[in-house]
Amino acid sequence: MNCRVMLRSVFRYIGTNPVAGQRSMSQSSLAGKVAIVTASTEGIGLAAAQALGKRGAHVVVSSRRQANVDKAVALLQSQSIQVTGTTCNVGKAEDREKLVQTTLDQCGGIDILVSNAAVNPFFGNIMDSTEEVWDKILSVNVKSAFLITKLVVPHMTKRGGGNVVFVSSVAGYQPMQALGPYSVSKTALLGLTRVLAPELAHSNIRVNCVAPGVIKTRFSSALWGNEDIMDEFKSQLSIKRVGEPEEVGGVIAFLCSEEASYITGETITVTGGIGCRL
Ligand code: NAP
Repeated sequence: MNCRVMLRSVFRYIGTNPVAGQRSMSQSSLAGKVAIVTASTEGIGLAAAQALGKRGAHVVVSSRRQANVDKAVALLQSQSIQVTGTTCNVGKAEDREKLVQTTLDQCGGIDILVSNAAVNPFFGNIMDSTEEVWDKILSVNVKSAFLITKLVVPHMTKRGGGNVVFVSSVAGYQPMQALGPYSVSKTALLGLTRVLAPELAHSNIRVNCVAPGVIKTRFSSALWGNEDIMDEFKSQLSIKRVGEPEEVGGVIAFLCSEEASYITGETITVTGGIGCRL
């Protein structure tokens, strides 16, 4: 038995033995769980994979580029996180299917889906946005989030339940200037969360959402990299700084844990105190 196989058996034992497992069986433990996180080779997705992995889940990371996948896998492995990596552009049906099949082949099931991928190909007045922009944004940010959920639900059901977490945005509550179509797509995820939660509760699957504020990643660098925008933005913040990806990753892991066992259909805002309401 090689070292990794032996360690896996020990973890499996600790995770299922009610006495030996007292610490790992704490309500925050995700030992024995398999978690797919989309768009997870950097930023919030990577931080979510780290947070889930540190709680014991086997995480499946993916994004469009193989080089990014390889880098993320190496990083997570260096942190002793059980990880599988594959490419997946969530906008492509065949990639979504490959992601799910790879997970089943390599990990034997699916317990958690974090649907994190989003694009924003348009900045400007909403009246200048084209049909092409709308098709792209709604297809990647909303439709694929639903379609990948639809793919994983039968496998979660087979395991007796699971967790889905969507990554929305503060923009879903409070539209950001020049980000109209993106903001609408993020509002749609709040609705998707609420629509799915009662239907999937019958299968013991909880569906929740996080809505980050401005978090320091490449995606939002046009915001936090611009002093004028940030000065104005900070006036809305109680905590007067940009958030870190880890501050969202931990909330996602919490939602997937037993600590959140009575939470479904909910969106947690992680914004440093920006008032959020529809
Ligand atoms: P990020 O750091 O720029 O990372 C984006 C990740 O997505 C990369 O791993 C990228 O890798 C992957 N990706 C891009 N397009 C993809 C696609 N079509 N299919 C699969 N993977 C794709 O972004 P982030 O800031 O963490 O954003 C993650 C989520 O948080 C998004 O839903 C975003 O709307 C939301 N959010 C972010 C903020 C913020 O301030 N950062 C605030 C609110 C909400 P590849 O290039 O290899 O594909």
